[in-house]
Amino acid sequence: MSKIIAIVNQKGGVGKTTTAINLATALAAVDKKTLLIDLDPQGNASTGFGITLENREFTSYDVIIDNVSVAGAAVPTLVPNLDIVTSTVDLSGAELELVAIPGRESVLKNKIKEAKAKYEYILIDCPPSLGLLTLNALVAADSVLIPMQCEFFALEGLSHLLQTLDLVKANLNPDLSISGIVLTMYDRRNRLTEQVERDVRDYMGDKVYETVIPRSVRMSEAPSHGKPALIYDFRSPGSQAYILLAKEILNKRRIRIEQPEWRKAV
Ligand code: ATP
Ligand code: MG
Repeated sequence: MSKIIAIVNQKGGVGKTTTAINLATALAAVDKKTLLIDLDPQGNASTGFGITLENREFTSYDVIIDNVSVAGAAVPTLVPNLDIVTSTVDLSGAELELVAIPGRESVLKNKIKEAKAKYEYILIDCPPSLGLLTLNALVAADSVLIPMQCEFFALEGLSHLLQTLDLVKANLNPDLSISGIVLTMYDRRNRLTEQVERDVRDYMGDKVYETVIPRSVRMSEAPSHGKPALIYDFRSPGSQAYILLAKEILNKRRIRIEQPEWRKAV
């Protein structure tokens, strides 16, 4: 049975999609059959895999609103073992259309069930809001992975998100857990970074992954080449960090060993 991980943060531009793309790639690279569901109308995860609009025949909109199955909408990516359910801007309409559907929070959960046998990991890239699409991801998921940027308002956003997760647990998905918080676009030259990291680690303890994802130009270049950074530049510090993150997730424990060289340098 698969593990379903929703990648969530209502704050925009914190590295959700970059994490979804590269973590999915890292899991697939160690032979885990993986599915990435692009649940964001921006379709950044789909674009990040170089899938053009013409090639997005069935999308997550069709899965949620129409009679298309998850397996029916999934297409292979350039990465072996990794499929994707793409999205387009049509998905923004689903947010409204869902309101009229009975059991509106559980549509994705019900649709995902039959795909569970086919994949070991299903990652869901969520939009930057806590609307009905994200709620569907939280109800369908076993756990939540929260990418967080070390900046001033990050902790406020995090406590709002944690309240939402408590509500979902209490009312809709009692088994939902926090897989972990990953610090993204980590840059020690920014004075706030260390302060925010200390606060988050004090507040959230071992919920925070040891691995941090460094800010690097190669990470931001990769999507414009339609490739995960892990394939665009395997050796870049960001790519290597996503491999370590995948290790932490696979081992279900925090990795405190070998501090990579870049960690000392940034
Ligand atoms: P949204 O909320 O809009 O969906 P997001 O949380 O999915 O955004 P991303 O799209 O992953 O965030 O990242 C935002 C921007 O930051 C992108 O341009 C991305 O290429 C860039 N970026 C992400 N991670 C890194 C990194 N480690 N180093 C440098 N740039 C990064
Ligand atoms: Mg995104």
